[in-house]
Order: sequence, then C-alpha cells, then structure tokens
Amino acid sequence: MNAADSESLARRLLAAGYQEESLERADVAILNTCVVRQASEDRVYSKLHELKAWKTPERTIALTGCIVAKEGDDLRRRFPQLDAVVPIGEYEGFLAGLAARYDYSEGEALPSAGRTGVSHYVRVIQGCDHNCTFCIVPRVRGRERHVPIAEVLEECRGAVEAGAREVVLLGQNVDDYHDPGGRGGLAALVRDVEAIPGLRRLRFMTSHPQDLEPELLETMAASDVVCRELQLPVQSGDDGILKRMARGYQTRHYRAIVEHARALMPDIGLATDVIVGFPGESEAAFLNTRRLLEEIEFDVVHLAMYSPRPGTFAATRMADDVPDVEKLRRLNDLLALVREIATRKTARWVGRDVEVLIEGSDELGRPYGRIRQGKRAVVLRGAGISPGDVINLRVLKATAGQLMGLPAA
Ligand code: SF4
Repeated sequence: MNAADSESLARRLLAAGYQEESLERADVAILNTCVVRQASEDRVYSKLHELKAWKTPERTIALTGCIVAKEGDDLRRRFPQLDAVVPIGEYEGFLAGLAARYDYSEGEALPSAGRTGVSHYVRVIQGCDHNCTFCIVPRVRGRERHVPIAEVLEECRGAVEAGAREVVLLGQNVDDYHDPGGRGGLAALVRDVEAIPGLRRLRFMTSHPQDLEPELLETMAASDVVCRELQLPVQSGDDGILKRMARGYQTRHYRAIVEHARALMPDIGLATDVIVGFPGESEAAFLNTRRLLEEIEFDVVHLAMYSPRPGTFAATRMADDVPDVEKLRRLNDLLALVREIATRKTARWVGRDVEVLIEGSDELGRPYGRIRQGKRAVVLRGAGISPGDVINLRVLKATAGQLMGLPAA
C-alpha cells in the first residue's frame, strides 16, 4: 500500500515537472511513512532527525502516510523542520504549495509525465473494516472506501498503454472489494482487468481468510493472466489465539481454503503472515502454529514477534505476557523451519520450464523477475533480455529464496 501511495505521489510530481534526484541535490524530501509496527514508526522519527542537517530555508521536508492520521498536527510542533504534513491521497494542496514555492518555468525542458514501470500498483480499497486486536491500520487508514470498477479499469488501461505488463490490485483486505455501483466483487473486477489487451499479468493482495470467495479461486484457475499466488495471512495456527486476535475464522476454515486452492491449482504459490508471542500464546498454542506451517508448507512466511501497538485493543486490554526471550526463541524456531521448507519447495522447480516476467537486473547485472506462482527467478546468462520481457526459463538451481536458470530453447 505504501509503495502504491509513493508511486501515486511520484507520478503527480513527475507530471508537474519535478525530477527524481539524490537527496544531496534535491530541493524537496518527502517521507512516506508506515506505522504498522513501532519499529517502522521509530524509523520515521530517526529519519526526521537525520534530515535536520540537510534542511535549509530553501529546502522542503514533507511527511505523508499513516503517521499523519495517527499523530496529526502534533508532528509540526515536535519537528519544527517539517514544512508540510500531507494526509494520504490529499496531494493537491501540497502540490499547489510546492508550485507556489518553487518556480521552474525558466528551467530545462520538463521530463515527460508517467512513471509506469513493468508493474503498476492500483489501490482498489483504502482502509479496513476488520478490527484485528493487534492492528493499528483501521485507526490510521479509516473505514473501507472502494474505488469504482470503471475507475480501476481506466487507470489500468492507461498503465498498460504506457508500458506496464503487470497490474497489482491492492487493498488491506482486497477480498472485501465491491464496486460501489453494484457491478460485483473482486472476482468480477479481476475478470474485467485481465481482459485489458496487452496485459500479461494480474496480481492482487492482501487476501483475508474470512472473505476470500471460492469464485475468486475459480477465476484464477481459469485464467492465463491472473497469477497463481495467494497472500493469505493466517497469523496463528491456534483457534484460541485467532479468537483473541478477532480474526473471524478458525484454522479449519483456513485449511479448507488452501485445500480448495490446491485442488484447482496444485502449484499455487502461498504466502502468509504469522505473529509469535501474542498475549496468551501458550507453548501448546505455539506448537499448533508450528504444526500448521509444517503441514501447509508455505512458500513464504512473514514472521513477526508480537509487540503491543499503542492504540490497539490488544495493547490496552491484554497483558503482553510472553517474555521477550521466549518470543525470540519461538521466532528463531519458526525461521529455521520456514527456511527449511522454502528450500525444499523451491528445489521442486529444478528441471521445469517456467514463465518469467522480467522486472530488472540484480547487483550482478543478471535479469530477474517472477514466475506466475510468485517466486523470484534469476536468468544466469541473459544478454538481450530487458525489463518487461516474458521469457521461458529452464530452472537449473534453486535456493530458499529464488530460482536460477537459462532461457529455455
Ligand atoms: Fe489490520 Fe486485520 Fe484489517 Fe488486516 S484485516 S488491515 S490485520 S485490521
């Protein structure tokens, strides 16, 4: 979501004639912030302190993102070096202020508008109507607002015409999407977007086990454009903890979704999020999570140690009763487990031919991209291959994190 917000603001700045520059040469620095965890919020404050040395009367520091909703006007008082505090999506006033401050009309020719790369992110829902007890997002991003299908389509068509090969539909809980005009939910939106001529791939995230509909899985399975990949956070493998988290499903529901998805798409890529050390997580509850991870064999698991987020239900009403040293032990135990599973799973791709959408070059200059199931793939010898190309790769090697190979004949 933050990447999409940054893209949206950057596109408007480029269209207005600004150029991307290194911090040393720039006139304007904009921090797009995330406050989903305390650590992310702390990084914002430390960056603001760092920028004090950079700031001069001619330079502008602006702050946007979730921290604006969370901390509000207090930010200007605490950080006098800040010139602008910009609520998410409300960029017009900020741009007008910049235009009044800096006059580039005598400068060099303006760069052409547009910032579309290989992938184009489109926010289809803003906010979240769930109330998971550990999560600050509903407080900082507000209740759900759904973008009409027609607007999403217009943005996607424009992006594809400008060169995008892939569209990524974004929402905190994307499965909750419905067109405000009654044209349908996420499956209908996916079907409309995938029909855009020239679009090679369509992804969406993040899904929610309570809201994901079988129709969506069937749409994915029937499509050559929609990627076979689900980002489906489970958070815990213990029903008691899921209830305390107010996630709205039990592990048997989660297992049923995975079973259905794999029946339709046996090689579907599955990613999930897990929190260890949530209040009340006993050893037995932790072991239930461990068992679920062993059983489902996810491709990617984003692991986090619970830390209370001020302002959430869990922080105010539940004792943070798992000692830090125990949280760390559980985290390290699961890290080793998911790494071993990921290594085993990626090895299964060796010898197969996969379709890779090239996104860029790695630090060794080798083209890399993603297969339709979401795994990263590197082309070991890729002369003449450019971002945006879709190639067939024969997989020769695999590590836990990526596949490597050569273009297939
Ligand atoms: Fe937060 Fe739960 Fe909404 Fe996800 S579904 S954004 S975890 S409240």
